[in-house]
Amino acid sequence: MQNLTVLGTGVLGSQIIFQAAYSGKNVVAYDISDEILAKLPARWEQLKPSYLHDLPDATPEKLDAAVARISTSSNLADAVKDADLVIEAVPERLDIKQDTWKSVSAVAPAKTIFATNSSTLLPSQIAPFTDRPEKFLAMHFANQVWIFNTCEVMGHPGTDPAVFDAAAQFAEQIGMVPIHIHKEQPGYVLNSLLVPFLEAAAKLHMRDIASIEDIDKTWRISTGSPMGPFQIYDIVGMMTPYALNENSDDPEMKKFAELIKTEYIDKGYLGKAAGRGFYTYN
Ligand code: NAD
Repeated sequence: MQNLTVLGTGVLGSQIIFQAAYSGKNVVAYDISDEILAKLPARWEQLKPSYLHDLPDATPEKLDAAVARISTSSNLADAVKDADLVIEAVPERLDIKQDTWKSVSAVAPAKTIFATNSSTLLPSQIAPFTDRPEKFLAMHFANQVWIFNTCEVMGHPGTDPAVFDAAAQFAEQIGMVPIHIHKEQPGYVLNSLLVPFLEAAAKLHMRDIASIEDIDKTWRISTGSPMGPFQIYDIVGMMTPYALNENSDDPEMKKFAELIKTEYIDKGYLGKAAGRGFYTYN
């Protein structure tokens, strides 16, 4: 599979586009307007230093060649006309995803495999809205795909095993470590592990069992992990744990969401990308 189309050019979509192009694929970037697509060259300039810093084999020439393999279109039929694979990274709303795939089904060639990058929705919630449920599955990338390079591949009960294998192979070709998920699981492997871990850390903090620094230190030193839970919160950004917990049935997690809002979000401490979250960054 040489031709990839990515739907949605936001945080994750733009990373998947750049990583696939860096790995030699021809990539078409699709978004809902030309104004949004016009922002992509600046995004590539932002990603290039990270590749140069994080990947020993990255060179300015290779990065320029990656950019040259990317084209853009805000016309869906045009964007998918040659696609072997379409990966969708549009906003995490079931109705938007279902509408998007219905529209793609109307214009994509019969050969095209369809994949969603959804973090929380299941492929079986979207597959019936396509004209080819057997060619539909999830390929879930992690933020900062070039270094945190897992791709969780997860089908639904009707996904053709050959399609699953082709998607896993494609993931490998673009520098990912494919993770074969055997059956539908909300949160895949990653978030099934991470969410309870982060919740446990939040509760230790809310009960004032130990300081944020000591909770992180415990995890780092005693397991050899490079980061503790609150350092991970800072990378994820405060908006996600707030959104996940503001209406939680668990009173402690609801209180944690309130704390995040008043002590961090309202003060602009949105996490590492903003220079400050639980910790302050240079
Ligand atoms: P984002 O808001 O940064 O980007 C969404 C993009 O989709 C925007 O460019 C927007 O213009 C575009 N868009 C909106 N409606 C569209 C439509 N109908 N058709 C095509 N494009 C449309 O979102 P994101 O953080 O990149 O998340 C996208 C998907 O990736 C979600 O399903 C999310 O769960 C998943 N994901 C996100 C992360 C993360 O860390 N941000 C990690 C893994 C998976």
